Amino acid sequence: KTIFNNIELLPPDSLFNIKQRLANDSRSVKVDLGIGAYRDDTGKPWVLPSVREAEKLIQEDPSYNHEYLGIAGLPTLTQGAARVLLGEDSPALREGRVVSVQSLSGTGALHIAAKFISKFCGDKLIYLSDPTWANHKAIFETQGLKTANYAYWNAASKSLDLEGYLRDIKAAPNGSVFVVHACAHNPTGLDPSKDEWSSILDTLAAKEHIVLFDSAYQGFASGSLDEDAYALRLGLKKLAPVTPVFVCQSFAKNVGMYGERVGCFHLVLPQQDAAVDQKAVASAISSQLARITRSELSNPPAYGAKIVSKILNTPELTAQWYKDMITMSSRIHKMRIALRDHLVKLGTPGNWDHIVGQTGMFSYTGLSPQMVERLEKEHAVYLVNSGRASIAGLNSGNVEYVARAINEVVR
Ligand code: PLP
Repeated sequence: KTIFNNIELLPPDSLFNIKQRLANDSRSVKVDLGIGAYRDDTGKPWVLPSVREAEKLIQEDPSYNHEYLGIAGLPTLTQGAARVLLGEDSPALREGRVVSVQSLSGTGALHIAAKFISKFCGDKLIYLSDPTWANHKAIFETQGLKTANYAYWNAASKSLDLEGYLRDIKAAPNGSVFVVHACAHNPTGLDPSKDEWSSILDTLAAKEHIVLFDSAYQGFASGSLDEDAYALRLGLKKLAPVTPVFVCQSFAKNVGMYGERVGCFHLVLPQQDAAVDQKAVASAISSQLARITRSELSNPPAYGAKIVSKILNTPELTAQWYKDMITMSSRIHKMRIALRDHLVKLGTPGNWDHIVGQTGMFSYTGLSPQMVERLEKEHAVYLVNSGRASIAGLNSGNVEYVARAINEVVR
């Protein structure tokens, strides 16, 4: 008998388990609408042309090597990444109010945020949207933090429950932490409008809540980095005069660096009165973030960081990257329209306009768990049982097939 005999067997991760079932499915036509990773119009993973070019430049460089990075990561990455998020003319950057460290993609950035909050922010409740990305709750709770939900999705109208959202912001204890999706909300694909963001951020500011922007899809939703940073930049104007703002940034989707784990955690400090030595505060925070990384990774991974840094700091590659983001976002948008149009043509019961209105990688289709199960069993169309479909899995070769399958399970 060993000390391990009573370890509980956990169920497989529901999302990654789809991948397994798909691999084991011997049917000739299969469609993967599960995992949120971009596919091209032939259903293949896509290495961005800007990434290919950056890799070439890195490997041709005579100083090419695989040495360790510093603990805080590659400075040309973290600085470039902060400019991408906050904008070239960001007052926070100009005033030295941004502390940045490299992280293991967006998940690692959230982990650093959770660790920092649990260590330095007292006993705060972490508010997550209902629904949210499945990993949010686990990341915060693993650090001993308590999570709660705020209203977000109105299932009946397939739209934002703004009233419930504002009510929950007001009801939360002052100074709570609110995790908001900077754009392309996962899983619903539904973002607040500009006016709605304005009321949401005003209400958050009035309660002096600490806002954490989870930015996993910047440029991937609309094709424009600036457009997709709208909420974050407005948030900094409304919140950062008084409260710190946390930003967790991923380059998994917008640079297609999924498995390379490239991301950053940024802490934007509030404007303080002249009596406070802002520089000393920033240095202390930096040192604490470095301690977290040192004890867990020693230093972050270099290769993907060099690729993204090369793209951000080489004007021709940056220009190519902008085109790449348009290629991805416009193909996904085209697939939204094609799916909706096929469903309408088939006379599928219900209204399917929300598929086109939603943005980013996903659509919250409104399909029930029973319908999702039938899609998989009878048609080899795989999605998560919440009815979330990764639109990137659609292409001109399979979208009509998927529409016919949906049409059949809905009736
Ligand atoms: N946050 C949200 C909302 C996401 O959807 C994802 C990925 O699906 C992430 C964070 C983190 O992804 P990664 O760790 O691959 O950057």
